[in-house]
Amino acid sequence: MNHLETYLAFRKKKQAYQYAMWLISWDQETEAPKNAIDYRSQQIEVLSTLAYEVETDLSRIEAIDALSQDQSLEDTLKREIYLVKKELDNIRKIPKKEFIEFQVLLSQAGQIWAEARKNDDFEGFLPTLEKVIGFQKTMVKYLETDTLKGYDVLLDMYEPGMKTKDYDQFFDTLREKLVPFAKSAAKVKQTFPRALKKPFDTEKQKAFNQYLTGVFNYNMDQGVLKESAHPFTSGVASVDTRITTAYKPDLRSAIFSTIHEMGHAIYEQQVNPLYDETELKGGISMGIHESQSRLYENMIARSASFWMTHYEKLQDTFKKELKQVSLDDFIRYVNEVKLDFIRVEADELTYSLHIMVRYDIEKQLFNGKLKAKDLPKTWNKLYKSYLGIKPKTDQVGVLQDIHWSLGSFGYFPTYALGSAISAQLYHAMSKSIDIDQAIRQNEIVKINEWLKTNIHQYGKLLEPKDLVFKATGEAFNPNYYVDYLIKKYEHILGIKA
Ligand SMILES: [Zn+2]
Repeated sequence: MNHLETYLAFRKKKQAYQYAMWLISWDQETEAPKNAIDYRSQQIEVLSTLAYEVETDLSRIEAIDALSQDQSLEDTLKREIYLVKKELDNIRKIPKKEFIEFQVLLSQAGQIWAEARKNDDFEGFLPTLEKVIGFQKTMVKYLETDTLKGYDVLLDMYEPGMKTKDYDQFFDTLREKLVPFAKSAAKVKQTFPRALKKPFDTEKQKAFNQYLTGVFNYNMDQGVLKESAHPFTSGVASVDTRITTAYKPDLRSAIFSTIHEMGHAIYEQQVNPLYDETELKGGISMGIHESQSRLYENMIARSASFWMTHYEKLQDTFKKELKQVSLDDFIRYVNEVKLDFIRVEADELTYSLHIMVRYDIEKQLFNGKLKAKDLPKTWNKLYKSYLGIKPKTDQVGVLQDIHWSLGSFGYFPTYALGSAISAQLYHAMSKSIDIDQAIRQNEIVKINEWLKTNIHQYGKLLEPKDLVFKATGEAFNPNYYVDYLIKKYEHILGIKA
C-alpha cells in the first residue's frame, strides 16, 4: 500500500470506532437505562483502546508525515492532512505520562466541582482547580509555537486564528458601548401578563417544538429531536446530526433551546455530503458554530416577524393559557432584559458581558496576574463593574460553570464571538435576501440556503477567519453586533442609547 492508501484505510477504521462510541454516548445522554452503566463502560473501554491504537499506529503516522510533504495532493485532501497533522503534532508534543495524569485529574475534577457548587464551597474546589490550572499551564508550555504563546495557545484550540489581541479589541468595544447601554436598559421596568409566568404543559410544548422542526426545515431524515437534562447537538456526519431539548415550566426555555440546537444541527446537516467520510465534515470552530445557533435563536426566532407568523399556532396550542396574551406582550416577553448572575439564563443583550468576566479572569490566570484563590473576589468585582450586580454566593458566582473543572480554558470567549459573528452574517445576508419577508412568509429555507452557500457547505475546508471574510466581504467587525443590539433594545424598551 502507498501512503495514501494506508491513510485512507486507517481513516475508515477510525470512523467506524468513532461512530460506535458516538452512538453509545448519544444513547447514554438520552435513553440508556440506568443499570447499563457498568456494562456500557466496559464496551467503551474496549472501543476507545481500539480507536487509540488506530490513531497511534506507526504506519498511519508515517503516512500522515509523508503526505503532509506531498504537493501533488488535491486541495481538499491537502487540507485534511493539514488538520490531521496539526492534531498529531500536538499529541506528540505532550509526554504521554503527563497527558494521562491530566486526564485522570479531569475525570475527577467534574465531580469535585459539582459537589462544591452544591455546597457553595469554593475552598473545597480550590485545591483541584489549582491543580487543573497548573497542568493546563504545563500543557501550554509544551504546545507553544513561534506564533502562539501562553493563553493564545488555548484560545487557538477553540477558535483558530483568534488571539488575545483580537479578543481584547472585541471586548473593548463591548466594554465601551454595550456595558453602559445594558445598565440603563436593565433599569427599564418591564411587566408581563401573569398568565406567562404559570407553568406550561409539557405535552403541548412537545407538539409545538415538533412544529418548529418543520418551520426551520431541520431535516428529520438526517436527525432526531429527543430530550436530555441539558440540551445539546451531536453530529457525526451530515446524514446523522441529532439534537435534544429540555422541557421546563417556562414556555420560552424549550422553544429557544430547540431552535438554538437546530442552528447547530442545520449547519452540520448542510456540510457538503462528500465530506462525510473525510475529516472535513462538521463545523470548523466553536465560534462559527455558535454564530449559527445564535443567528437562528436570537436574530430569527426572537424577531417580531417570527412571532407575527407563528404566534397564532402557539396560541392554538395553548388556547386557555395564551388567550389573554397579546402578540406584542409575547414579543416583549421573549426579549425580556434582566440582570442576572447566571450565564446560561442570561438574555440576548447581557449575555456577552457574562463572557467578558470569564475572559478577563482566564487571561489574568494565564499571564500570572491572578491566583486561583483570588478568583471569587475578582469574579464579584467584575460582575459589579460590567453588570452592576454582585453575586451573593459563589454558587451563583464563580462556581456556576462546569468549564474550568473540565480544563476548558479558552472556550468561553467563543460564545460571545459567535453572537457577534451572527450579527455580521445577518448584515451580509440582508444584502441579498429580504430576511424579514422570508421569515414572515414562512420561508426560513431561504435563510438556510444562504447559510449553506456561504458557510455550511465548507465544513472544515476553510479557516474561520477566511470563512467570515468570504461570506461578509470583510474581517470580523464587532460593531455590527453592538449596533444590532442597541437598535433592537432601543425599540423594544423605548429608550435611547
Ligand atoms: Zn450553542
